[in-house]
Amino acid sequence: MVKVTILGCGDAFGAGGRLHSAYLVETPQSTFLVDCGPTILQALKRLRIDPERIDAVVVSHLHGDHFGGLPFLFMQYRYEAPRSRPLAVYGPPGIGERTQRLFEALYEKSAHEPMNFPLSYQELTPGTPHALADVRIVPFAVQHVSELCCMGYRFEVDGRVFVYSGDSAWTDDFITHARGADLFLCECSTFEPEVPIHISYREIAAHARDIDCRRIVLTHLGAETLRRQREISLDCARDGMTLELAGTRQVSPRARPVAPRTDARRRPKKASRGRARRAR
Ligand SMILES: [Zn+2]
Ligand SMILES: [Zn+2]
Repeated sequence: MVKVTILGCGDAFGAGGRLHSAYLVETPQSTFLVDCGPTILQALKRLRIDPERIDAVVVSHLHGDHFGGLPFLFMQYRYEAPRSRPLAVYGPPGIGERTQRLFEALYEKSAHEPMNFPLSYQELTPGTPHALADVRIVPFAVQHVSELCCMGYRFEVDGRVFVYSGDSAWTDDFITHARGADLFLCECSTFEPEVPIHISYREIAAHARDIDCRRIVLTHLGAETLRRQREISLDCARDGMTLELAGTRQVSPRARPVAPRTDARRRPKKASRGRARRAR
């Protein structure tokens, strides 16, 4: 079974009280984070997920709401529940240096002491797949901000596929990257306004029928997106939501949503559901 838990689906501003970007992926052989925003420990502890279980962290880009939780994770592993087994951190070029600088800014003394567990950084580059236990990680470039290398990811595990947009403007490349995926977790920072560095709901809704995946779930939800959530026909992430990947082998083109899911705080279906389908 492959499971994705939404630890935080808020934007940089914590719209609607949602936590910063972080997703927990559990596969038969590995447990890893995709992004690690500053609220990572709150997110894990609210859901009673033991931080010790995390084998690795995969970071999409070096914006604070996506990697700013790493020093807090290190502090957890140093003082709260001392860790001895290795932790691998994957991310764009500069991941090691930027994280170390952040750690030094936040906890100067601790950052200068030797780590009590083996910590490794590995830089990933768009287009070059990487193996992490039973997972094939395929990083791809996204169009977010020009000063950083920003990536989305396609994770493939035993026929199951999870695609994450990271932060990005809309590009038709997502149609290719998300092809055959069980789950496409796509950022949706705004509802209407098209901003050059993020995706609006209008844009993804206009392209949703072209994306051949089982299920699209919107995340990185901004204030305006949340305000107009009733007009949104696609599924929106909620902190604490768990999504199980059913396997691509049974995918029928454009079927959605068929993956079984459990969601601790699932709300009753809204009356706008029918309209939602049509708007897709
Ligand atoms: Zn962000
Ligand atoms: Zn960003």
